[in-house]
Amino acid sequence: MITAVAVFFWALCAASAPALADPPSHARRGRAAPEPPSRSVGWANHGRITHGRRIVPSASVRILPGRVLAWGTADLVGLLERTALRVKRQFDAPLTVGDLSAREGGAVGRHRSHQSGRDADVAFFARTDPPHGRSHPVVLEDYVSFDRDGRSLDGAMRFDTARNWFVVQSLLADPRAHVERIFVSTVLRAVLLRHAREVHAPADIVERAERILVQPARVSPHDNHFHVRIACPAADHGCRTGVWLPPPPPRHRRRARSATAR
Ligand SMILES: [Zn+2]
Repeated sequence: MITAVAVFFWALCAASAPALADPPSHARRGRAAPEPPSRSVGWANHGRITHGRRIVPSASVRILPGRVLAWGTADLVGLLERTALRVKRQFDAPLTVGDLSAREGGAVGRHRSHQSGRDADVAFFARTDPPHGRSHPVVLEDYVSFDRDGRSLDGAMRFDTARNWFVVQSLLADPRAHVERIFVSTVLRAVLLRHAREVHAPADIVERAERILVQPARVSPHDNHFHVRIACPAADHGCRTGVWLPPPPPRHRRRARSATAR
């Protein structure tokens, strides 16, 4: 027994002890250690992230004021950064990003999901809506809701359909990350798809947008921002698609057991 315990601790220490022999090759060459891959673990509404990446402000990425949930998987952050670069090139304006996840994921106050590094909120682009003269792009300090006609509820702004469709198209056409859902209100979904057909957007992108743009059930309309969720990356074996459902309360379980017994 003593021998077995001693062998176990020797094995444990040997596995965790720092290497005394040669340092890793990247250290010998004076390079920084490669970042471990980030992983999405569990479900979007019951999960966590390992080795997440932080999205940081830049010329092309703007963080909505006051937002601190800035972590996601490398796939998600890469998708947002590439999309923001395309937006910047096209319109000379940054993409405004709201909440992603907490550093290690897990439950965050105001969201049901945003737990496993696959969710990000993206602000709409908006324009002024003057009674006369030209409208101009607006830099939003917070999310603004738009109605079925693309008007803000206070009537001061319009949904910038062309730019917002460009964001959707860019997200869906990304060559590396796969977008699973973009949550948006049913009426704004219709505005975007109508515009996409009018400008003869690529048919495959429009067809994907028809499937991916959705208003989630049983929540208030997503009329003030896009909520983007990427699919589970192929290498993330612990990532779970769909929604985690809590186990039924004990009373139901007891009833279920007795029904099976009969
Ligand atoms: Zn969200």
